[in-house]
Amino acid sequence: MKTSTSMTGGCQCGAVRYRLNGEPQMLYACHCTDCQKQSSSAFGMSLMVARADVEITAGQERLKTWDTQGDDGLLKRCAFCSDCGSRIYHAGESDDEPLSIKAGSLDDTGWLRPVAHIWLKSAQPWIDVDARQYRCYTEEPGDETELIALWRQQYARD
Ligand SMILES: [Zn+2]
Ligand SMILES: [Zn+2]
Repeated sequence: MKTSTSMTGGCQCGAVRYRLNGEPQMLYACHCTDCQKQSSSAFGMSLMVARADVEITAGQERLKTWDTQGDDGLLKRCAFCSDCGSRIYHAGESDDEPLSIKAGSLDDTGWLRPVAHIWLKSAQPWIDVDARQYRCYTEEPGDETELIALWRQQYARD
């Protein structure tokens, strides 16, 4: 269930704050080794949100970026708080692409429910995803149309 803090978030130290002004387009959990590194944990959470809908409400000057390459070989710009190091979002090269908000940075994470788990071939061995509850992919999902539709239904319901 969404609450008044479902669409706001920030870094661990609180210097960087953001607000989502539009409906997120999809949420998935990614078990690739890059996401394990960036999260320092078992998987990454990607909440896709149109760039125009993401408003940095505090600490813009603290938000640093680091560039790397995605699996597709394209630029991935990773934004993080330069004080505490929390990863906030990943951005692709084009402004048309949604931002991937690192969803654990939301103030209220109680409503989050990914529609898919991807890159399960590199998941940590204790991860046991119920394939009846989530779309499961060994690598990239390819066509995301169905996942976006599933997310929309779920978002409208929750
Ligand atoms: Zn911080
Ligand atoms: Zn990943």
